Amino acid sequence: MKLRDKVALITGGARGIGQAIAMTFAKEGADIVVADVNLEIAQKTAQDIEVLGRKALALEMDVTDYVKVEDGVNKILDKFGKVDILVNNAGITKDNLIIRMSQAEWDAVINVNLKGTFNCIKAVSRPMVKQRSGKIISIASIIGLMGNFGQANYAASKAGIIALTKTVAKELASRNINANAVAPGFIQTEMTAKLSEDVKKKMLEAIPLSKLGTPGDVANVCLFLASEESSYITGQTITVDGGMVMA
Ligand code: NDP
Repeated sequence: MKLRDKVALITGGARGIGQAIAMTFAKEGADIVVADVNLEIAQKTAQDIEVLGRKALALEMDVTDYVKVEDGVNKILDKFGKVDILVNNAGITKDNLIIRMSQAEWDAVINVNLKGTFNCIKAVSRPMVKQRSGKIISIASIIGLMGNFGQANYAASKAGIIALTKTVAKELASRNINANAVAPGFIQTEMTAKLSEDVKKKMLEAIPLSKLGTPGDVANVCLFLASEESSYITGQTITVDGGMVMA
């Protein structure tokens, strides 16, 4: 088992990619904190984790609210005594062309995706520094590397996560804390299931591996970054995109 008895906090862990990361980590021996705005679905995911024989805690946590995030981390320390892994997965989109994008659309996406990531990293950094160990993984996007029509807010938030990751990696390296980002491309989720066949065909033409990724593909890279196998890797962004973006 790659994560035996590690404690992992996964934001937006109730469903989608976050849920896949939670289940993958639990199968590798980790106890999981499912932190999400939707407590009911978070509790359901926590029950699924307990079925695998691991401990789970569902927390109602809006990552934009630092007081709630700090309170959540204190609850984790009370229950488990430590936090080994943070996965910043909570994220939203509010797409619009820049000429039409409202202040509210810009602020909402930057607040959840970028400020939320900052809030969670800040809240776990003190216990991780004390422990002299930690793994911080933030879910960015290939849109943060290449930009996209109608996604100025999302692209800026994800590019911000990549720069934040490099800074955190430098600041915390001396305390044995690794910080890396994962940049998924097009992943089979509820969002991509709704796209028309025509749009899907165009997307596939741009992907050298000619298929969409799965939440499990993203979870496997997170598992590697959370495990000791990646102990000499920090400050990096790993794309999981079937070859769409090549450095
Ligand atoms: P989902 O919308 O399926 O899941 C996101 C989860 O985050 C939901 O449970 C959502 O709750 C929760 N959430 C939203 N806002 C907050 C908040 N303020 N605080 C805490 N939790 C919150 O998204 P995906 O699984 O598709 O995406 C997960 C991550 O991967 C995101 O960061 C996304 O940007 C990134 N990504 C996804 C890609 C894809 O193809 N799907 C591609 C590239 C990157 P609720 O539903 O109740 O709002």
